Amino acid sequence: TEKTPAYKRVLLKVSGEALMGDGPSGVDPDMVDMVAADIADVAASGVQVSLVVGGGNIFRGLAAAAKGMDRAQGDYAGMLATVINALMLQNALERRGVETRVMTAIQMASIAEPYIRRRAVRHMEKGRVVIFAAGTGNPFFTTDTAAALRANEMECDALLKGTQVDGVYSADPRRNPDAERYTQLTYMDVLSRDLNVMDAAAISLARENRLPIIVFNMHAPGAFGAVMRGEGRFTRII
Ligand code: UDP
Repeated sequence: TEKTPAYKRVLLKVSGEALMGDGPSGVDPDMVDMVAADIADVAASGVQVSLVVGGGNIFRGLAAAAKGMDRAQGDYAGMLATVINALMLQNALERRGVETRVMTAIQMASIAEPYIRRRAVRHMEKGRVVIFAAGTGNPFFTTDTAAALRANEMECDALLKGTQVDGVYSADPRRNPDAERYTQLTYMDVLSRDLNVMDAAAISLARENRLPIIVFNMHAPGAFGAVMRGEGRFTRII
């Protein structure tokens, strides 16, 4: 079906939800390990892998603002949540023998490196999995936007967005059995039809730099590797 993507360097956006398991929030170590296993396989295949982790399983600025918290303050808390996820993912990867570096957009030099673009590139060239944490470092942004930003900065061949379903649909397939799955879309399709993939800022950033976005289901073991080999189901946005 979908053609083989032969990518040398990619960025995978891991949402906080992907680390959550069945609980309502927090981190499920088994889920973290499953995601790490998948990433370890891809890294072992010789692909240069970087990650942007979300934090929605722990804290979201927008949700806190809805309950009266100052939005910017809530967003800073949300960015810290992504660092917690990053440290857990780093540990799970290291237990599998994968060399990793966490780089944060907000400096916290005792636990992670500050984000420096050229250093991040160097880490990737050496085969280390680089985990980008603390989003863009700015409130009023999301980790989706951070993912598009870092993928552009790293000159990645593709941005992979792991979700709960196997691509982009015309409607929520879990609620609407007639929802149609797209194999390929343009950035403009996503923006003009307001398809629920990534926020508009992320799509626009990808579009400006012709960065392909691959949307796939992260919840099946081995899914990341399968997509990298061009197998399985996914939607390509170009
Ligand atoms: N956040 C932010 N700036 C960024 C990235 C994230 O302020 O550049 C905050 C924001 O409050 C967001 C939270 O961090 O709600 C967690 O990130 P996100 O919701 O994108 O995580 P995901 O949905 O991927 O789990």
